[in-house]
Amino acid sequence: DKQRNAVAALVQEFTVTPQLLKDIKDNFIGGMQKGLKKDGETLAMIPSYVMGRLDGTEVGSYLALDVGGTNLRVVSVHLTGGGHINTRQTKYRIDESLKVGDAKALFDFMAVCVDSFLDEHEIVVRGDSQIELGFTFSFPVLQTSINRGTLISWTKGFNAHGLVGKDPVAFLQDAFNRRHVHVRVAALVNDTVGTLLAYAYNHPETVMGVILGTGCNGAYIEKIPKIEKWKGGAIVDEMIINMEFGAFDKERTILPLTMFDNKLDRKSVNPNKQILEKMIAGMYLGEITRNILLNLIDRRLLFEGNVSADLNQMWTFETAYMSTIEADNTPTLHVTRKILESTLSFSSTTLNDRQIVKTVVELVGKRAARLSAAAMAGILEHTGAWKQKAAIGIDGSLFEFYPSFDTDIMDGLEEVFGSEVRQNVSLGLAQDGSGVGAALCALLAAKHASKD
Ligand code: ADP
Repeated sequence: DKQRNAVAALVQEFTVTPQLLKDIKDNFIGGMQKGLKKDGETLAMIPSYVMGRLDGTEVGSYLALDVGGTNLRVVSVHLTGGGHINTRQTKYRIDESLKVGDAKALFDFMAVCVDSFLDEHEIVVRGDSQIELGFTFSFPVLQTSINRGTLISWTKGFNAHGLVGKDPVAFLQDAFNRRHVHVRVAALVNDTVGTLLAYAYNHPETVMGVILGTGCNGAYIEKIPKIEKWKGGAIVDEMIINMEFGAFDKERTILPLTMFDNKLDRKSVNPNKQILEKMIAGMYLGEITRNILLNLIDRRLLFEGNVSADLNQMWTFETAYMSTIEADNTPTLHVTRKILESTLSFSSTTLNDRQIVKTVVELVGKRAARLSAAAMAGILEHTGAWKQKAAIGIDGSLFEFYPSFDTDIMDGLEEVFGSEVRQNVSLGLAQDGSGVGAALCALLAAKHASKD
């Protein structure tokens, strides 16, 4: 029974026990404290320059540009007061060649998209006036003001040259100016920060914004005296911190990395970086699963040792398939069969094959959810927020569509804090954090500027 042993070994390797979850959480808190003390630590803990809160009475029209994942989005956000928000948006696919080409070309493409969005929605800018834009640029950027910063490194498959160490806002503003697009980049926003703001607009007890999409990351509200490295002034006593927690455990001291994770990392465009992200995020889970399946196939423990041409290609096992397979409760696993045979072109599969595939998927998915829980628990413990009513706004397809991701996270939080955490802490889908949130950030920027 080599097959059963192989599966049992995988269960062993991929299970995050309650004790390991707590150890990771403790290590994570240590990482947060280091990052709050000085720059250049594994958890970057980047001050967002977003201070102050919203009360839902704000009015105005803004644009948001969201770059940082699979699609580029342009959103027009109209705040009508009373907590009401109207949005219109268009998505544009970012060609792979733009992601790894010249940065200037990538930013020209962004300006073209915004320009055509304004045309399409007949948004006219009169005379010398400009529309204010919140720029959600979801990569590690060290901010130096609400609309200035420098890119620390690319992540998530992007690697456009000429931008690391430079200011993405300047690149974007230059691209607008070159094309005479009347838009002013008023705020540089991380998607986690936008998610927190957007969720807080309707849930005032929000303490954290989390992304579980192409990548993973979080932002939370920190007391300014605890941000020891912060040298700027402050008009209020708290600020949102963009943690860049996908980078956690660069030292590889605590996360339970397997040979399948190492293989993925080695073949990625950013080896040795974003170690936690590569175990959690939507961009990677399917590929980890593919690596495991190939290993079982090569050991003749799955599909009688036969592989399909599709599965042989990197990135062909999409994370979305995992959601579908997890949800497949049919006795013959015929939905799983369809994915394997119709989509991935396996000539035939047995029920036993499909059961193994489903088990592998569940192991990879559950590990991701429990590692997310360890990070969230770290933030909740560090801030003490779990002791009161606290809301966590989460954006991203992984959280939205993956079955049991939310219950797995809550189970993990309960292991750390006990059952009362269920009364206090709630998780919710924060839709369109990067659009509405960026607009709210542009608005807060204007508010602060008028106070300076
Ligand atoms: P982004 O993070 O790029 O703004 P999304 O939140 O839509 O956009 O996340 C895209 C990621 O989510 C992709 O990596 C994709 O693999 C994953 N994804 C898309 N659909 C699903 C799904 N049904 N279940 C799980 N993951 C999904």
